[in-house]
Amino acid sequence: MSERVPRVGVLALQGDFAAHQATLAALGVEPVRVSRPEDLEHLDALVMPGGESTTMLRLIEVMGLRAPLERFVASQPVLGTCAGLILLARGADALPHPTLGVLDADVARNAYGRQIDSFTDTLRIPPVGGEFPGVFIRAPRIVRAGAGTEPIAWHGGEVVGVRQGRLVGICFHPELTQDLRFHRWFLEHVAQLTLPAAVAAPPAEPAREDAA
Ligand code: GLN
Repeated sequence: MSERVPRVGVLALQGDFAAHQATLAALGVEPVRVSRPEDLEHLDALVMPGGESTTMLRLIEVMGLRAPLERFVASQPVLGTCAGLILLARGADALPHPTLGVLDADVARNAYGRQIDSFTDTLRIPPVGGEFPGVFIRAPRIVRAGAGTEPIAWHGGEVVGVRQGRLVGICFHPELTQDLRFHRWFLEHVAQLTLPAAVAAPPAEPAREDAA
């Protein structure tokens, strides 16, 4: 087995990419900021963060990232959180440019009412062992999930996360919690990466101390 530390890109045009970098670093992989086409070379997986999808799509065009990103998401493991989910989805409303459209799901942007447009609640995520803290910030709703997707996360009876093979899109923000289990599951089980031995065994308690 290779001793190489996995390199995981984080799309770093706008949004909460720094929180994903900190989570990935806590899991022992090398986070790589992606803001130019060449940053996508030699990555084992990519995370597309939360933020503002309209701004991200504009910057993807400005930075010449559309074609390289389209190539990457067509063949490599990708986790999209919130705005990142919007970028992956096939259908989304009111955007200045098309999404990457590889995830067979449609989303409605900013779909939670004003009073609850940001909230925290307990989710059910069987792949990571059950209950998980869900942080929602002006989140999109998944309004259609195609037959090739499988639901992985529920808020009450509502699906808030789907997987389609090596693609994962979620409405919430695990990177804004102290809980590493979601990223760990993505890296180990979706991207099939081997984490460094020091972090290979899940801690009894979430162990990250450094998050804001
Ligand atoms: N409302 C944002 C959008 O439509 C997504 C919010 C988020 O990523 N937290 O892009």
